[in-house]
Amino acid sequence: MPSSSHRHHRSVAATLVILALIAASQTEPANAEPGVGAKVPHRKRPPLQAKGLDPRQLVKVRAAQRLADRRLETRTECSTLFDDLDQTGPAALNAMVVDLNADPSVCQRGVAATTQVHGNSVSLCRQWLPRLDRHQLAMLLIHEALHHAGLGEAPTDPEAPTSRAINRMVSKRCGL
Ligand SMILES: [Zn+2]
Repeated sequence: MPSSSHRHHRSVAATLVILALIAASQTEPANAEPGVGAKVPHRKRPPLQAKGLDPRQLVKVRAAQRLADRRLETRTECSTLFDDLDQTGPAALNAMVVDLNADPSVCQRGVAATTQVHGNSVSLCRQWLPRLDRHQLAMLLIHEALHHAGLGEAPTDPEAPTSRAINRMVSKRCGL
């Protein structure tokens, strides 16, 4: 009989967004942004679900969601990040619920958000949110969406990429 005191290890795989990487992404040349304020046709999607965010935080997170969604829609190399997973990028983004209840001790180690593999809930660190710009936040949302869609992360999942590798991949392929 399996012991109920042992949680399945994949169920506790949290994702880490390392701030050093986010800082590194800031030094890259800004990508031309086709969608912002421009007349680019864009399918209407429901806004990202969120819990416990104040109106300003909500506006910020939803703007990042729209940017992430647009990149998934307009860049094949971005949307194909989800090819071997259980959901498409936009579907994963829409299914996630963002809240600000990340474990403070985790946040103090430079982690900006955690998501369990196949989990719906993205736990953002309250103190990091004001320090992330829209592009960084969009990168983070796609990173977390990959976990929601089933991507694991090393070292919890030794066969999966590390958090940094995921950040690099999203940053490069989605232009974020
Ligand atoms: Zn991660």
